[in-house]
Amino acid sequence: MTSKAIISEILSLSAHDGPGMRTTVFFKGCSLKCLWCHNPETIKLKPELRWENSKCLACKICEEVCPMDAISFAHDAQYIINKEKCMACGICAELCPSRALEIVGKEYTVDELYQRLLKDEPFIRKGDGGITFSGGEPLLQFSFLEELSEKLKKHNFHLALDTAGNVEPENYKKLLPYIDLVLFDLKELDNRKHKKFTGAGNNRIINNLFLIRDIIKRQKLKTRIWIRTPLIPGMTGTEENISAIGELLSIEFADITDRWELLGYNNMCGEKYRKLGFNWALEEVELLSRPEANVLLDIARSSARALKKIVFSGLTYREEKNNKKTSG
Ligand code: SF4
Ligand code: SF4
Repeated sequence: MTSKAIISEILSLSAHDGPGMRTTVFFKGCSLKCLWCHNPETIKLKPELRWENSKCLACKICEEVCPMDAISFAHDAQYIINKEKCMACGICAELCPSRALEIVGKEYTVDELYQRLLKDEPFIRKGDGGITFSGGEPLLQFSFLEELSEKLKKHNFHLALDTAGNVEPENYKKLLPYIDLVLFDLKELDNRKHKKFTGAGNNRIINNLFLIRDIIKRQKLKTRIWIRTPLIPGMTGTEENISAIGELLSIEFADITDRWELLGYNNMCGEKYRKLGFNWALEEVELLSRPEANVLLDIARSSARALKKIVFSGLTYREEKNNKKTSG
């Protein structure tokens, strides 16, 4: 029997998840709960209902048709979804006259997703790109991912795995032979802080990064690594953390790491949380200023001298106003 997976989005023409022009597949389900998560729709490993306030006509058709009695309206017409009762059947979304409701998370068989990805082959080949598995944590749906990777590799696609490292080590042993690039999230080296920011300690994550390095070397794989570190003001974006990560990368991983990306904190996902009916803890946190970002970039470059490439990407406070992307 072929495996199935829950996918939240398939993003074509992505230029941010590995080299070249890529298609990124966002798997649902994550084993961390980072306070700054930009993709809250990928946290739960099941389909969910989203509601868009600005489109809602307050006709209450959804409330009438829901077989689970999962929808209600507060006196101020605020929409309330009882997440315990909602089974994401999609009936309300189908009947909503203004398309204010949507189910996020679609089930695919391996063959269905494979066929969908083949449609992007022309621009992937032309743009020297590939396919990136992201999320969430794609390895939480391991059997599916292994089957799909094997199929795509036979078709000679460049495959990238975006992983946060908090999974069973066995997964990497089996999957790495198919993977050309690992995008590894290394967020915080202080174990206590890591637990506070993400809900889990970092021992397994760091052990898995060493394991990936050892598998690549032992099996003489051509797999390369890019490290990604989010710069969250007052959390991971501290001089102490960046310098500790830089030293670790420089000493242990320089020969197989092509790039260390410092990802500027992005505060534009509040609406995503509201649509899912959550509050976002970092709603009020401001972006880094350009000088703050430059200080962290300088620290990264001086602490990780052996690394080939260190870049900052994302928004800074001033640039957000001009709505520009930066890299350096
Ligand atoms: S059916 Fe759609 S438009 Fe009507 S109340 Fe529900 S979400 Fe709003
Ligand atoms: S998705 Fe189904 S169960 Fe959930 S609120 Fe809509 S109609 Fe009710």
